Amino acid sequence: MRLLFFLVLFLVSCTLFALRIPKWQIREPVDLSWDVDEDSLYWPGIQSFFYSRKVAHFDEENRWYAMSEFCTGEHGGTHLDAPYHFYKYGWKVGDIPLQRLIAHAVIVDMSDIVHRLGPNIQLQEADLIDWERIHGPIPTQCVLLVRFGWSKYYKYRDLYFGLNGTEMEFPGIAEDAAQWIVNSKKIVGVGVDTASLDYGMSTTFPTHRILFENSIYGIENLNIPRHLPARGFNVLVMPMKLKEGTGAPARVVAIPDVILTGDPCSALELSTSAVPWYGHTSVVLSSLLLLGMYAINCFTL
Ligand SMILES: [Zn+2]
Repeated sequence: MRLLFFLVLFLVSCTLFALRIPKWQIREPVDLSWDVDEDSLYWPGIQSFFYSRKVAHFDEENRWYAMSEFCTGEHGGTHLDAPYHFYKYGWKVGDIPLQRLIAHAVIVDMSDIVHRLGPNIQLQEADLIDWERIHGPIPTQCVLLVRFGWSKYYKYRDLYFGLNGTEMEFPGIAEDAAQWIVNSKKIVGVGVDTASLDYGMSTTFPTHRILFENSIYGIENLNIPRHLPARGFNVLVMPMKLKEGTGAPARVVAIPDVILTGDPCSALELSTSAVPWYGHTSVVLSSLLLLGMYAINCFTL
């Protein structure tokens, strides 16, 4: 009877811990891209998106037909920056291997710091070291997403670029953090929810250069919602396959690990990463605790 009681207690405990785990994951795909249309934001001086031709009508026999043609710069809205953008010998968009566009993802959330210290802050090497101390090592073959909480300004161009006379003010990634990312050898791409990997005040773009010289691509103007977890999901980064592109509009989607489990793309090793370390540890600790209680109970009676 006592054994049955502890067995039930053990199963209930495991179930409760198992139920906690999904809180730290996503259950369905989350779109991290902005719509592409005439409201898409482009870096000042770059050709904005516009429809050069739009056809939409019923013909004389009442059959519908629609088609459009459009014109756009490469670097606008949610888009990928190919290494060639700032490095002569780097990959162009069409050269980037697919294995680097379907990858694990982590999020470093800087939004509270931006809220406290203002738009000119930069992600530092120390922030990345702190992140690994709290969340564990960054997985290999990973896209590092930095959430500055800047998406909320995307619909307001002046606020988003932080236009202040001839200067721009918005957060970005510092040079020492870019070097840390390169040295980690685990990161294939870096994405931000601002208009540039470098912060708005930069005029020389060192972070772009450091990353691109090491075949790490960029993603800019992401829409990263607050509810995404720090780790435990994957991203699909799907730029238009512009063979010669220095960049390209991209659809970027966060997906649960489980969607890719069993996929022939075995190099991704996705099956176990869905469960964070505390998920496993909690179950093990609860098992040991209950077994200990059971043993004490046996010896004391
Ligand atoms: Zn760009």
